[in-house]
Amino acid sequence: MSKRDYYEILGVSKSASKEEIKKAYRKVALKFHPDRNPDNPEAEEKFKEAAEAYEVLSDEQKKARYDRFGHAGVGGAAGGGFGGGNMSMDDIFSNFGDIFGDFFGGGGGFSGGGFGGQRASSRNAGRGSNLRVKVKLSLEDIATGTTKKIKVNKHVACNTCSGSGAKDGTAYNTCSTCGGRGMVARVSNTILGRMQTTSTCPACNGGGKTITSKCTSCAGEGRSFDKETIEIEIPAGVGEGIQLSMTGKGNAGERGGPAGDLIIGIEELPHDSLVRDGQNVVYNLHLNFADAALGTSVEVPTLTGKAKIKIPSGTQGGKVFRLRGKGLPSLNGYGTGDQLVGVNIWTPKTLNKEERKLLEQMRGSENFEPNPSKSEKGFFDRVKDWMGS
Ligand SMILES: [Zn+2]
Ligand SMILES: [Zn+2]
Repeated sequence: MSKRDYYEILGVSKSASKEEIKKAYRKVALKFHPDRNPDNPEAEEKFKEAAEAYEVLSDEQKKARYDRFGHAGVGGAAGGGFGGGNMSMDDIFSNFGDIFGDFFGGGGGFSGGGFGGQRASSRNAGRGSNLRVKVKLSLEDIATGTTKKIKVNKHVACNTCSGSGAKDGTAYNTCSTCGGRGMVARVSNTILGRMQTTSTCPACNGGGKTITSKCTSCAGEGRSFDKETIEIEIPAGVGEGIQLSMTGKGNAGERGGPAGDLIIGIEELPHDSLVRDGQNVVYNLHLNFADAALGTSVEVPTLTGKAKIKIPSGTQGGKVFRLRGKGLPSLNGYGTGDQLVGVNIWTPKTLNKEERKLLEQMRGSENFEPNPSKSEKGFFDRVKDWMGS
């Protein structure tokens, strides 16, 4: 079969501009659009032919090669794309769908949401549902990122028929109602005139195949329930409210349909001694009165082991020490939070005779009289600091 000239197909001259070529293609494509020409193979051929012509003529390089060498210049591998006239309907809609979108997507078109959108849903016929799981993480897990293995019950592709639902994986035919496309066009009379809509093929439920003999293991569904262990990689810096997803790790689709996604929710486990505040972690340090007055060195827990803090003499309650970089990394990889160590002065709740005597001696001492310097921040400023950092 000899190929028609691309310019002739679109009805434009060799000197036509890019815009003119696009316009001409729209016109031809709409004329032979499958929504307007249901069950008309000749129109479908013309529709494909126009798409092929437009694919070449809308691309400057391909157009130049076609002008010099004709079909031979764009038909081979060097032509790239889908030269040679074997462009599928899905190719056309995914490559040029925006052109139809202008016409069909504007509301009140032939099929409401536009043909392109319907193609997309036909491809999703039999798609498995998303699977939701919750992963419990310690602050240490969140600090470093981790890998969790979880066991889930889900639909998996049937082993016996490789998910096709057909006996031995071979006992099926291409659906004769829709020609394997999974969608059928319908004409109905409405007050606005004749309307055409496309819908999922009732004969094959959108799968494009009719099974002649069902797989006995899965009763023709192409999937079965089973346990699966999934390894989930958790990046550092996640938190409650964040959802991770793994494409295609959800429930298997019916009869080979695409699998759903695995949606992973995060649950933070409470930590023994640290509290998360955004990217920072907060630790409440209780110092005894003598240590605070005399100064000392203490060990505090962090997410990566113990850290030493030098407590200078005369440390007041409410003082906040900052351990830089000892907090949590941000999810996007920029920067790490700090650990804030807040000081509380421990007041003895019981005193023996000796202690009581010593304290009573000191009570009246001049140095024991509260006397905050002006340069020291007030209590409320320190609270603000704590909350805001
Ligand atoms: Zn099966
Ligand atoms: Zn069908």
